[in-house]
Amino acid sequence: MIAKVIVDVPSRQTDRPFDYEVPAAFADWIEVGSRVGVPFGGRVLQGFVTELADTSDFDSKRLKPIAELLDHVPPLLPDLIELAKWMSEKYCCSWTTALQAMIPGALKGKAERLVCIQDAESASEDLPLAMTEWMGSQLVKLDVLLERFPEYAKSVKSALREGVLVEHTKVRDRLAIRKVLTVYLPDDVGKVRTQLAALPARAGKQREVLAFMLERGEPMVLQQLLAEAGGSAASVRSLAEKGLLELREVEQQRDPYAGREFDRTMPLALTEGQNEVYDRIIRAVDAGEPKTMLLHGVTGSGKTEVYLQSIQFCLEQEKQAIVLVPEISLTPQMVERFKGRFGDAVAVLHSRLSNGERYDEWRKIRSRQVQVAIGARSAIFAPFERIGLIIIDEEHESSYKQEESPKYHARDVAVRRARQHGAAVVLGSATPSLESFAAASRPLTAKDEGREPALLPMPVRVGGRPLPPVTVIDMREELKEGNRSMFSRLLHSSLADRLERGEQSVLLLNRRGYSTFVMCRSCGYTAACPHCDISLTYHQKSRALRCHYCGHAEQAPATCPSCQSEHIRYFGTGTQRVEEELSKLFPGIRVIRMDVDTTTEKNSHEKLLKQFGDRKADVLLGTQMVAKGLDFPYVTLVGVIAADTSLNLPDFRAAERTFQLLTQVAGRAGRHHLPGEVVIQTYVPEHYAVVTAQQHDYAAFVSEELRHRSAMGYPPYCRLILVTMSHEQLPLLSTVSEGFASELREIAENEGVLISLSSGFGRALEVLGPVASPISRIKDRYRFQCVIKYRGSIDASALVRKALLPFTGGPPQRLVQFSIDVDPQVIL
Ligand code: ADP
Ligand code: ZN
Ligand code: ZN
Repeated sequence: MIAKVIVDVPSRQTDRPFDYEVPAAFADWIEVGSRVGVPFGGRVLQGFVTELADTSDFDSKRLKPIAELLDHVPPLLPDLIELAKWMSEKYCCSWTTALQAMIPGALKGKAERLVCIQDAESASEDLPLAMTEWMGSQLVKLDVLLERFPEYAKSVKSALREGVLVEHTKVRDRLAIRKVLTVYLPDDVGKVRTQLAALPARAGKQREVLAFMLERGEPMVLQQLLAEAGGSAASVRSLAEKGLLELREVEQQRDPYAGREFDRTMPLALTEGQNEVYDRIIRAVDAGEPKTMLLHGVTGSGKTEVYLQSIQFCLEQEKQAIVLVPEISLTPQMVERFKGRFGDAVAVLHSRLSNGERYDEWRKIRSRQVQVAIGARSAIFAPFERIGLIIIDEEHESSYKQEESPKYHARDVAVRRARQHGAAVVLGSATPSLESFAAASRPLTAKDEGREPALLPMPVRVGGRPLPPVTVIDMREELKEGNRSMFSRLLHSSLADRLERGEQSVLLLNRRGYSTFVMCRSCGYTAACPHCDISLTYHQKSRALRCHYCGHAEQAPATCPSCQSEHIRYFGTGTQRVEEELSKLFPGIRVIRMDVDTTTEKNSHEKLLKQFGDRKADVLLGTQMVAKGLDFPYVTLVGVIAADTSLNLPDFRAAERTFQLLTQVAGRAGRHHLPGEVVIQTYVPEHYAVVTAQQHDYAAFVSEELRHRSAMGYPPYCRLILVTMSHEQLPLLSTVSEGFASELREIAENEGVLISLSSGFGRALEVLGPVASPISRIKDRYRFQCVIKYRGSIDASALVRKALLPFTGGPPQRLVQFSIDVDPQVIL
């Protein structure tokens, strides 16, 4: 048997399966998706089996055998192997890069170097006795050996060269399955009882421990036994030596929600609107054919309840469900709703889990212990075998796009995966992305005859609760009338009202635009990174200036390096400034600040929200983090401090992002019995993103925004690929990027594609640039970019891959680095 293996070397030259012989011992175990260790370039590297075959195109006698089979149950399934292949083509990355994105970090095996004695006779002459005795006939880790005998590094090196020692490599997991020492009573409990009485009086601790175990009558984790019985590890060990107790290593699953009770919830009676949508979803699940639907439901319309009941239906059909939510909404509230309904059938995957917890949650999925996976982006790769339903909540969120390679969009991967499984995909949002909305509302063609349109609207809130009234405040007017504070008079008085009534407020500071930087008031100097074309940010805690791109750090200067003036100012984070201002205006006000600085620790996000939920604070102040998914009954005021900072970004999605953010945060107010109110402060009250958000009018926003997109030639009227090229030498970079752009234009033309979007209708592709990237230098490398716009049925990724070919050979130091971003979220 021959196995085709993708080896974990992410380079374009090695991006194809290599043939290996399957040793007889593995033959019954190896499958497509198995993780193996294979000899490659003198080492043993990790790889995945992509295919099994009877014959090889190569001389099968010269094939090397697979060295290791790393798991008995393959971590990946054939459909995931195929999905990774598709990702590598669509996102222009290597197959192995896509495969690596699918497995938990714990399974990203690293090669370990081991040595053993090959020639015992020479070893006893060349190496110290202590070393040969210590090694015996074992394989030992090379680094451990050198650590133990540091003064013999030279001898080890020459012994390796002469073949006295030989080196092996093995793939080792980064993290093992967790084993805990567990204490057992021996089979013959009667004997233990008699021996207990015979223990000498001075062994008091041992007696206590043993008596406790006898009383308990079942195995106990050592740590827990010590905590409860009050013994020491030594006493347990001596009991084990006497044969009165047994110590065994037992596998244990780390459960991030262990010890937490989730109240069971029953399905609610659906409203008429919910029911209509629910019906259409379950019909799609029942049909077992791939179908994508867009659930457009206003905030508080009860989308989550629809998800829960649709999943219930899916489980009854013995199929599994994946729920994607933005990382930021994976709050205890969301998890509680799923755990509350489905209990132990749910695995939760998010980035705040430790590597071990994540691995164990993942294993619950692979071993069929759970049927529902809820998680951020990468949960789309949950290794289920029979998926019936994939839900993507807040589908417009940019965090569904991964910013590092593989630069995939979970929404597109979901649609692809659903096609493999015959599953339904539900995209849910109060503010769908223009791409999804345009796709769902496209007029049906003859081909779609008899099929339902894919748009599922839920335009009203549960219980007919009104959407909160929104007041827009023009901050220019405030200034004119002498108010120089960051709070308008209305927001100020509304906050005072809430304090008086004991209700709560959420304050949103639009993060971007309020950065932390250093500026000289005398000469205008700003501190910039010496390696990147970007200003340094100020960290109050360490009083250091840091570059977010390359990690460069320096001490904050006390005087201006340029003019020696002392009027150099450090601006703390925007939220810190707002917090200070709040305390000044409302002495004694209790504020919870939630931003990158206050949420670095594990669970800090959860803790802060719990405090707010318990009404231990009057104001929840934060960045984008406070806009999503929160549902607190006493929040009756939402204030947006600066709505327009995100409007000014040079990004074609700026208006869309602003509209989404304002709508989302406004939806946090008045979700329960108390009515809510929203105050938006802005310098551009006439901007359509602000006006339509004020009126809760998604349709009006979309039609205005579509006109802009169409006029400017942006998605959804075309698609984009961003190619960024970098090199230390500017002239070389300039030549290569010009070369790439003309290569691509030529290839497109040869394929019969029009090379300008403005040239009528049909298949067209336009290459803009190369031009310097907005951040023109990072880590001393200059950066150029090309933006590729295309429309019609063009496999643009394939054209880009082809155009890259002439630029991927040659000596590495001459190589310009290419980074391809298909459907980029940001083209900064
Ligand atoms: P969305 O996800 O659309 O913002 P939620 O699912 O959070 O909305 O629902 C808003 C509120 O309405 C929640 O408190 C939820 O428990 C409640 N709710 C949802 N569906 C129903 C229903 N059918 N009957 C009663 N209450 C409901
Ligand atoms: Zn200065
Ligand atoms: Zn830098």
